Amino acid sequence: MVTLARRVSFSSGHRYWLPDRSEEENKRLFGRWASPFNHGHNYVLWVMARGPTDPVTGMVVNIKRIDDVLQERVVGQYDQRSLNDEAPEFEGRPPSLENFLLVLSSSLADLPDGAALTGLRLEETPLLYGEWVKEPEMVTITRVYEFAASHRLNSAQLDEAENLRLYGKCNHPAGHGHNYVLEVTVGGPVDLATGMLAPIDEMDEVVKREILDRYDHRNLDVDVPELQGRVSTSEVVAQAIFDRLEGKLPARLERVRLHETARNVFEVVR
Ligand SMILES: [Zn+2]
Ligand SMILES: [Zn+2]
Repeated sequence: MVTLARRVSFSSGHRYWLPDRSEEENKRLFGRWASPFNHGHNYVLWVMARGPTDPVTGMVVNIKRIDDVLQERVVGQYDQRSLNDEAPEFEGRPPSLENFLLVLSSSLADLPDGAALTGLRLEETPLLYGEWVKEPEMVTITRVYEFAASHRLNSAQLDEAENLRLYGKCNHPAGHGHNYVLEVTVGGPVDLATGMLAPIDEMDEVVKREILDRYDHRNLDVDVPELQGRVSTSEVVAQAIFDRLEGKLPARLERVRLHETARNVFEVVR
């Protein structure tokens, strides 16, 4: 079996505002996102399809036929539209990333050539995306953050020559730094009233307080208590971030991804 991913993009407007609720109630539900007026996104959707490779065509599914389906059921339905006003599936159901993924998971359930839809990734901005996975069925939301920090790779269990041999220039005594990119993913049931599985603002506050304020523009080896006495590789840092955030976020922590450079990324999953 092979899984392939196909990308499609479209632009839509939407708003977080329930017309049958008071202004106070809308503000309580949606926080600073509450507004009776639309805003817009350039959405990017990734569709994951899985199946056996056909021995004659060499394909799981004809990409052209997938594109036809995406044009008809996604671009044709939502591009240059207001989701609240022009998409009946969002009547009485806020067009959040989470609800959008659930709607797409059923409208794209039957892909051509018998290919099985296994997952979706919908990006609202480069710093916020949602994912739907078929088995076990789950919706997650991922927030992307950045921090800059310095460190030095050096193990107390190894001598000077061994450290230099193992870590090379990363062992330089004065240290060096990275612009880390941190992705935090939470999952769980979607709230029917808000269409969200977690208040994003609350999630941002926790990550800021627990990680960004404590790691940004710091020396990881000196300033961060949970890394003391450990080698600050990204394996160790990613796990320390996961452990630090566990149980503190407004939804279940599912995954932490830490990009140390554009060429390496480390992932801790539940
Ligand atoms: Zn929006
Ligand atoms: Zn480094």
